[in-house]
Amino acid sequence: MNILSRASRPISSHALRRNYSGLSFSLSDEQKSMQEMVRKFAREEIVPVAAEHDLTGKYPTDIIKKAWELGLVNTHIGPEYGGMGLGVVDSAIISEELGWGCTGIQTAIEANNLAEAPLIVAANDAQKKKYLGRMTEAPLMASYGVTEPGAGSDVAGLRTTAVKKGNEWILNGQKMWITNCGHANWFFVLARTEENASPGKAFTGFIVDGDSPGIQRGRKEINMGQRASDTRGVTFEDVVVPEENVLGTPGQGFKIAMNAFDITRPLVAAAAVGLARRAMEEATKYSLERKTMGKEIFKHQAVSFMLADMAIGIESARMMVYRAALMRDQGEKNTWHASIAKALASEVANKTAADALQIFGGNGFNTEYPVEKLYRDARIYTIYEGTSQIQRLVISRGIADMASSGAAAIGGF
Ligand SMILES: Cc1cc2nc3c(=O)[nH]c(=O)nc-3n(C[C@H](O)[C@H](O)[C@H](O)COP(=O)(O)OP(=O)(O)OC[C@H]3O[C@@H](n4cnc5c(N)ncnc54)[C@H](O)[C@@H]3O)c2cc1C
Repeated sequence: MNILSRASRPISSHALRRNYSGLSFSLSDEQKSMQEMVRKFAREEIVPVAAEHDLTGKYPTDIIKKAWELGLVNTHIGPEYGGMGLGVVDSAIISEELGWGCTGIQTAIEANNLAEAPLIVAANDAQKKKYLGRMTEAPLMASYGVTEPGAGSDVAGLRTTAVKKGNEWILNGQKMWITNCGHANWFFVLARTEENASPGKAFTGFIVDGDSPGIQRGRKEINMGQRASDTRGVTFEDVVVPEENVLGTPGQGFKIAMNAFDITRPLVAAAAVGLARRAMEEATKYSLERKTMGKEIFKHQAVSFMLADMAIGIESARMMVYRAALMRDQGEKNTWHASIAKALASEVANKTAADALQIFGGNGFNTEYPVEKLYRDARIYTIYEGTSQIQRLVISRGIADMASSGAAAIGGF
């Protein structure tokens, strides 16, 4: 029965159909075939070696090279600089599949996108030609250097400085938790250039060549999960950076570093969805084989409902990833949606991996089975690329802004 009578319906069904014509939940044929290709790559190239990289912490150079040859690395670099110029939705499809294979390896690949995002946002043509162009000519790695030992969430508290001397900048300071650091051909570095200015004016973004004298890379950190990825501290001591390597204008760095997240947070979220999907698939297979009390454990509702909750989380998180990614591709401001996608997918990945481990019982706690790695790998998602608390800060501030600007509805369409 219709809740509203035909006469009292405010909008005709024809108008609704017309308004809904902008929505689509299907991928294009090109996207489907790309997804199939990456899925095959993840299944055949990543999965067989993922446990070994996790155990040894060996950097996945060979896999990255193969992924680079297939065009799965540096996806945003435009054709004018030798790249594929893929959108964020396309890149999210790739990230989910790589993340399904191994999020440690995916993070190493993704960190290039993170380093390149500030250049995509703010670099001039010569900088793009030089630094993005070289990424398409050889399988090189790059790093995004913002976090410091004393400041992660509190970006305004960064202490690394750059002081202008003639036509050069002298960089001093220490960065921490920098992905790909041991292999980076160049770094994006955020440094303080005005001592007493507000964050919006105090920082400048620099492109720093990895072979500059004065750069000292620390030892590879032994992390709880995603051990194929290379995370290190790095020290800059009187590193000379030419003026031509300043991104945008001096003082704009904070905005540039934050705007990069509009591109990369949906992609980190997509990889978390991939991890969650893998955990659900492993748990489903296991639950259909393992028997207790005379039947497959899948047939115990307590188990099958955990799987149902996994599906609810994964499907919702993926939709949010696509929403945030599509907005960016369509030129809309997506910061708020990207934070929702990142927070949701991170938490879905953690819950799904934890429940998958539960479904495996004692075997789940053992390294012979795949889910303990997924559980460890998932843990970083609520921390890097902005913690879940910081995402909620962005989301709640957005709610307040929308309310005070008199928006007809908060969020939504
Ligand atoms: C494996 C790994 C890879 C990384 N890769 C990179 C990289 O490539 N480049 C890079 O620049 N950084 C990288 N990071 C750093 C990462 O982004 C930071 O660790 C993260 O932003 C959190 O900062 P923090 O560790 O200093 O924690 P803190 O900022 O000290 O936070 C500690 C706790 O306090 C909470 N908190 C802090 N401030 C607030 C607040 N205002 N309101 C509510 N809660 C708050 C946080 O949510 C967290 O729970 C990486 C980190 C790891 C572990």
